[in-house]
Amino acid sequence: MRRIHPGRNRDLLAEKRNRLLDRLRDEGIIDRLACDLAKQEGLPPKPRPLPMLAPNLLAYAQKTGQKGQRVLSTLDISVQVRALEIIERHHMKLASEGILNAAAIILDVETGGVVACVGNADGAGRPCIAGSRAAALIMFDLFDMLDKSRWFKRPDSDLVYIEVCSKSGCRAGIYCEEAEYNASTKKGLKTDPCPYCRRIHLDDGLEWQVDSQYEKVSQIQTRSWFVLPPHRPDCAADSGGQRHSSISIIYPGPDSSIYVPLGLDSERGKIVFQATHRDPDARIFWHLDSRYAGTT
Ligand SMILES: [Zn+2]
Repeated sequence: MRRIHPGRNRDLLAEKRNRLLDRLRDEGIIDRLACDLAKQEGLPPKPRPLPMLAPNLLAYAQKTGQKGQRVLSTLDISVQVRALEIIERHHMKLASEGILNAAAIILDVETGGVVACVGNADGAGRPCIAGSRAAALIMFDLFDMLDKSRWFKRPDSDLVYIEVCSKSGCRAGIYCEEAEYNASTKKGLKTDPCPYCRRIHLDDGLEWQVDSQYEKVSQIQTRSWFVLPPHRPDCAADSGGQRHSSISIIYPGPDSSIYVPLGLDSERGKIVFQATHRDPDARIFWHLDSRYAGTT
């Protein structure tokens, strides 16, 4: 037997509809003209497929014995639809990078109710995928679509005002010439000062960094500077441009732990420290824990 339904066997549906109209006419309920006009009407359109906007919720409802029942959820359909669009848009791009799952869940902070729940995730990590490159981009788009009028209150009691270099955004150091007070979390108090603004010595035209070995002191201009100009070739020639320190420890490296073993004669072994100085004729005086150890 063929099933009659607006979505299938529409020829049979038309015949059935026309038979009913004929019966209504024969029984005098409608007249001949009304019957003929009614037969010329089109059939009801095919029903559209039901929207699948919350498949996770549907699967959950089926799993928890609510199949066939009316389920009232906290989902907000407009948030759900827009979150779906965002996840799908990002998913198309991420799929080309081997990320096959993406999901987002948005909660109402006041009620704790889920207002969106889209996508799927198996929790497996993907190599070379950083949260800042994948998840953060989705989060920013999701944040953008949310209602800004009910955003979080600024946590003023947890903020402190710190002086920040206007050029680098780091905590202002003594050589930062332009600074402003900005609100920061208390952790901002523990950050290092701006490493980009430095006190440097320049030639008269403020074009090159120079030093007193190759430039008259009276010609040298001392300034704070953000992006450092180059060393004048004659001044930089013997230092490779590294003019912050004359001396550099080659071995051991910073924060090294060194184990000096006992020899077969039960005597402690020896360790060789290495350093270099910009001036090949310089003498280096070695001290270990404030005890003089020798000169090289
Ligand atoms: Zn600075």
